[in-house]
Amino acid sequence: MEQTDTDRSERAGVPFPFRAPSTPTVFERSRSGRTGTAVPGPDVPTRELEEEIPARHRRDRPPRLPEMPEHEVVRHYTEISLKNHHVDRALYPLGSCTMKYNPKVNEATARAPGFAGLHPLTPHDAAQGALRLMHELGEMLKEIAGMDAVTLQPPAGAQGETTGVYLMRCYHRDRGDTDRSKVLIPDSAHGTNPATVARAGFDVVELESNEEGRLDVGALRDALDDRVAGLMLTNPNTLGVFEKDVQQICDLVHEAGGLTYMDGANLNAMMGVTRPGDMGYDMVHFNLHKTFSTPHGGGGPGAGPVAVKESLARFLPVPVVVREGDEYRFDWDRPDSLGRVHGFFGNFGVMVRAYTYIRMLGREGIRETAEAAVLNNAYLSERLRDEFPLPYGRGMHESVYTGDRLKEETGVRTLDVAKRLLDFGFHAPTVYFPLVVSEALMTEPTETETREELDEYAEAMNAIAAEAREEPERVKSAPHSTPVRRLDEGRAGRELDVRWTFDDDQRGA
Ligand SMILES: *Cc1c(COP(=O)(O)O)cnc(C)c1O
Repeated sequence: MEQTDTDRSERAGVPFPFRAPSTPTVFERSRSGRTGTAVPGPDVPTRELEEEIPARHRRDRPPRLPEMPEHEVVRHYTEISLKNHHVDRALYPLGSCTMKYNPKVNEATARAPGFAGLHPLTPHDAAQGALRLMHELGEMLKEIAGMDAVTLQPPAGAQGETTGVYLMRCYHRDRGDTDRSKVLIPDSAHGTNPATVARAGFDVVELESNEEGRLDVGALRDALDDRVAGLMLTNPNTLGVFEKDVQQICDLVHEAGGLTYMDGANLNAMMGVTRPGDMGYDMVHFNLHKTFSTPHGGGGPGAGPVAVKESLARFLPVPVVVREGDEYRFDWDRPDSLGRVHGFFGNFGVMVRAYTYIRMLGREGIRETAEAAVLNNAYLSERLRDEFPLPYGRGMHESVYTGDRLKEETGVRTLDVAKRLLDFGFHAPTVYFPLVVSEALMTEPTETETREELDEYAEAMNAIAAEAREEPERVKSAPHSTPVRRLDEGRAGRELDVRWTFDDDQRGA
């Protein structure tokens, strides 16, 4: 443990041993005639087959793939993977994102040929295993959420929200209640909430949080009227604070004729312990890629299933997976459905990972995961709060610290602290969000990190605070050891350079 501490702080002073920043691309490393695996030629005649392909679809020259020996390919990708931070290297404390460790067994099941190779147009009687998995995953999510029906189709949390707002519209229209154009959202909400609501054609009404960081019930009362379609509330909210008055809040919204939607992206803090359905919510989305694993650091595919109460079940997107005896099939015959929100059936690979994850943990394990996520955050909060106070107190699975005092005392801002953390081998926490905390540092350690890793992170944060007092310039000019230093983000946005163009001359001869 001590050993690693020294390594980390030493590393904070010395450059990484990477060949940075100009690692060549695979195309530049390619040399004509080099091969990795030599594939034997075909042992059947191919000429006739080739001729069956219309000439305009045939290649006139071989594809310009890089030519490299296998170990060079492995080295290349290993090297570039080390230039990036990921959860396989160290703690990734990005709050509001649940960057948790994803067990490798999930990858094995998601890649099982029967799943990975399945075509979405496969007839249902030849895809019973996949349909059964989807059905059982839906049943488990309903149980975890305390809801009656589910759709797995939305491919992201934000699209789960969109589905939720469309469900509000379907519900009110069906009752002939067509004047409801407003959706209420607290000011601590994730940016996707107001964006979704506006995109779906509703008006966003922002509700102020009280001094505890919770939804203000008085402000809610004042905002409720017969134009309100519903309320979107995250729990625990984006400050990591558990909304305590949810039953009362849901009752008030229901009395005014509205629906309640829970943004369930923070379910990591409460799954297996308490259920949105029991609190009175009408619907909730899950971020399978956060709470139920699937790596999502690169913005890769996600899944945002939505679970609802019985009153909304018939409006869910088509198709829904149903079970009839021992057979599973897609039910398309749902006349009240809002339609589809995604091609085919959603991101199936993410569902396989979530299914594996839930089955591996079981009922008890799901609960223990939430408890450990909260415990880890409590521990970290106590180790950090002397230097980085918590304006809204300790959160559940994540806490929002402020760098205000440090800035006043030393001129070192939250952004500088975040950049300096990279030198210690950690990813930075979420910064300057949520907006209700100035100089915010929002940290979510997640359940899998060990006490030693949390200690190292706390020591790094506290060391940076000490450094800010003694040598503020060193913090302000960080990072010092990464392949790329501090970027001009404005210029990077204006002068986008994200594409490498293939040029035959660039390829090694
Ligand atoms: C991540 C997140 C979302 C959006 O989910 P995506 O899958 O990124 O679209 C919404 N709300 C909260 C609270 C989140 O943390």
